[in-house]
Amino acid sequence: MIKNLINGKWVESKETFQTFNPATGEMLAEVAHASDAQVAEAVAAAKAAFPAWANMPVAKRSRIITKLGDLIADNVEALAQMETADTGLPLYQTQNALVPRAANNFYFFAEMAKQMNGHTYPMDDQMLNYSLYQPTGVCALISPWNVPFMTGTWKTAPCLALGNTAVMKQSELSPLTTDFLGKLAMEAGIPAGVFNIVHGFGATTGNALITNPDVAAISFTGGTSTGKHIISTAGLKKFSMELGGKSPVMIFDDCDYDRALDAAVFGIFSINGERCTAGSRIFVQETIYDKFCADFAARADKIEVGDPTDMNTKVGALISQQHWDKVTGYIKTGIAEGATLIAGGPEKPTAALPDHLKGGHFIRPTAFRDVTNDMRIAREEIFGPVAVLIPFKDEEDVIRMANDNDYGLASYLWTQDNGKVHRIARRIEAGMIFVNSQNVRDLRTPFGGMKASGTGREGGTYSYEIFCEPKNVCISM
Ligand code: NAD
Repeated sequence: MIKNLINGKWVESKETFQTFNPATGEMLAEVAHASDAQVAEAVAAAKAAFPAWANMPVAKRSRIITKLGDLIADNVEALAQMETADTGLPLYQTQNALVPRAANNFYFFAEMAKQMNGHTYPMDDQMLNYSLYQPTGVCALISPWNVPFMTGTWKTAPCLALGNTAVMKQSELSPLTTDFLGKLAMEAGIPAGVFNIVHGFGATTGNALITNPDVAAISFTGGTSTGKHIISTAGLKKFSMELGGKSPVMIFDDCDYDRALDAAVFGIFSINGERCTAGSRIFVQETIYDKFCADFAARADKIEVGDPTDMNTKVGALISQQHWDKVTGYIKTGIAEGATLIAGGPEKPTAALPDHLKGGHFIRPTAFRDVTNDMRIAREEIFGPVAVLIPFKDEEDVIRMANDNDYGLASYLWTQDNGKVHRIARRIEAGMIFVNSQNVRDLRTPFGGMKASGTGREGGTYSYEIFCEPKNVCISM
């Protein structure tokens, strides 16, 4: 039984739900479904624990946070196996990248908290202003299922390191590693009430959490429609909204072709394509479009799909039957819209799977060419391993099409022309642009999006926006 963590105690609920392995269909655990009263208890515990945690000497707090990072680093294999079982993500990614990155989240923010500073603003010799950054209070941390452990720790680490207390609600589809995180947090010496976990669905447990008046801030990662709902329902609170994406990859004919091809394939098919920053709209200059499409399709066809626990597997199983229906529905839509299918398709690769995986939510890496920017497969977030390849003429043409979309999270640019790099970087409507590189995270930089991809940024001192209250002190001299 996966229990809630409330005020340092593991607590069952009257109701439960179940979490399943998306590759095998096996039921993994019965999970406590936190009631409204239990959510209120968790928030009350976080509120009571706040003053002592916020006022703990920062060196001491940072040592506890670092210890939690160490415990994650010591448990990478167990956490990765658990994450793979709960989400269908390939083990080669959970074990080699996603779980190790989670440990780094704690190391990074433990260090950053110690170096926190404010600003001074002298007004001639009359007055002196200085700013203090103080913790916000009780924060609700709400996470999606796609990379649950990485995303959950990306919120927990700055939240706690900067002196806040937390109530976390992980996705109902992927609760296992968050439960493990709670156990490691207790082992690291995080005091009772500082880090609480409530499990359940958005409409029940989630709703009780976001509407609680003692929650001062909500750090939310998830779908755009959920984010809008939370902003309109939660009342007066601080929000950080990390929402959906349809990120453009812009590939010019003067690029390093092989590297761009590698990155484009990885950008849409890694993490099963269930990735907010997936390079899901691939714009290719018309002079190299035919060759690029043929090479891309050949690469997609070679990707190993299957048992997520096999270290050779590159695409595992999608999170749920409902999500599989959505993703394959988009593939059918693409065919109906007149795009040309050049790899994969909507059918399950059942024949290639061993018996115990035949019921899993598997899908072949899929690609379309002859896509136009007005098709639904080019406009809407599919959140699966489905690439759309769109030709463009020149710089103006690709900027216009890349920006002609509701979302604005990440973007990727492949060219050897430095002038083009700086011009496009300025004009692209996205929170991040990666030039001649894959999505590489430096934890000091702002992460987040504009337009329908969200509001606010997290990362480095940008995390102060949500996890700190700046206070001005104005003194007469
Ligand atoms: P979702 O919006 O359905 O759910 C996200 C979380 O919100 C879950 O824990 C869910 O239970 C909770 N929730 C749902 N309704 C709620 C409510 N009314 N009140 C409070 N909580 C509620 O999203 P999902 O399907 O789990 O995740 C996929 C989405 O997440 C995609 O759109 C993806 O792009 C986005 N995402 C964004 C980023 C980013 O950093 N921008 C990162 C990962 C995923």
